[in-house]
Amino acid sequence: MAERTAVYPGSFDPITYGHLDIIKRALTMFDHVIVAVARNYEKQALFSAEERVALVREVVPPNLHVQVESFEGLLVEYMKKKKARIILRGLRATSDFDYEYHMASMNRELNEWIDTVFMVTGKDYFFISSRTVREIASLGGSVKDLVPEVVARRLRERFTTANSQD
Ligand code: ADP
Repeated sequence: MAERTAVYPGSFDPITYGHLDIIKRALTMFDHVIVAVARNYEKQALFSAEERVALVREVVPPNLHVQVESFEGLLVEYMKKKKARIILRGLRATSDFDYEYHMASMNRELNEWIDTVFMVTGKDYFFISSRTVREIASLGGSVKDLVPEVVARRLRERFTTANSQD
């Protein structure tokens, strides 16, 4: 049987416990998971693509079945290069659905062999988003239950530097 590879694309700005839970669950279903950090998003990003990739690598437990890299341009083109046809996405709430459905349909339109698989996180993580993590950290709040310690530290460093320059 052919090996099953899932590509998990996102901005991961920064990676959270929600993302990690999806990766952990995906590894029970797929032989390989490629965490694909989007470069396209660079302009609004808090962390550069290199920093986001480095943080994901630091917090994903060492595993031969997980690969972390950045990609640029159309996801379907990247998937072709990786010889993968499954996109993995997480669903938090029904509010994610419209956008995700639109993206999945678009990608199917661009390549009819592409399928998107949606996963739901554990109940402790469904409310976490990178955006709220950035907001809380920028206001000096604690994000210790939302992201691993190394990510929380990087956020503190980033916002201390930013605030001391104000
Ligand atoms: P975010 O939407 O948090 O800024 P990304 O663009 O990096 O994050 O998200 C990549 C994928 O991970 C998306 O499919 C997103 O819905 C999913 N995801 C992010 N956080 C969670 C979570 N807490 N539970 C389930 N899925 C999540």
